[in-house]
Amino acid sequence: MAYDPNNIFAKILRGEADAHVVLDEEHCLGFMDLMPQSSGHTLIIPREPAESIFDLSAETLAVLVATTRRVARAVKAAFEPAGMMILQLNGADAGQTVFHIHFHVIPRYPGEGLTLHARSVAAPAQLREHAARIRAELDSAQTTD
Ligand code: AMP
Repeated sequence: MAYDPNNIFAKILRGEADAHVVLDEEHCLGFMDLMPQSSGHTLIIPREPAESIFDLSAETLAVLVATTRRVARAVKAAFEPAGMMILQLNGADAGQTVFHIHFHVIPRYPGEGLTLHARSVAAPAQLREHAARIRAELDSAQTTD
């Protein structure tokens, strides 16, 4: 399947759709998942147009993984979850629903069941507040790797 430049994440990258951004850098963008599986669920995407991990350049993949870990650290500091799931799906049969490669950073809390997709859209005010907490942790982080 050819990359569709009208997928929702491509629109967010072009500024044509809104997102609660936590990180805006040369190669990657990080923002709150609209339908979070848990409090603090964040997505990290490359600017390079690629549908899946198999289409992305090795150079960008390396930056994306490092950036994902950096955002995950910030989410960990902001939400203090018991565990952290870092997830990346390739292809509809693997559960991928947006065809621009992305990593999920999903904090896990005791007593919450494991699901792959949530069904409800979070309140904008809550996503705004969560994004601010993660940005504050990224700003105060001691490392850039
Ligand atoms: P995947 O199933 O791995 O392709 O994940 C796609 C994710 O994108 C899901 O967790 C959705 O909740 C999320 N999502 C879809 N549309 C938006 C949007 N406009 N802004 C933020 N997250 C979105």
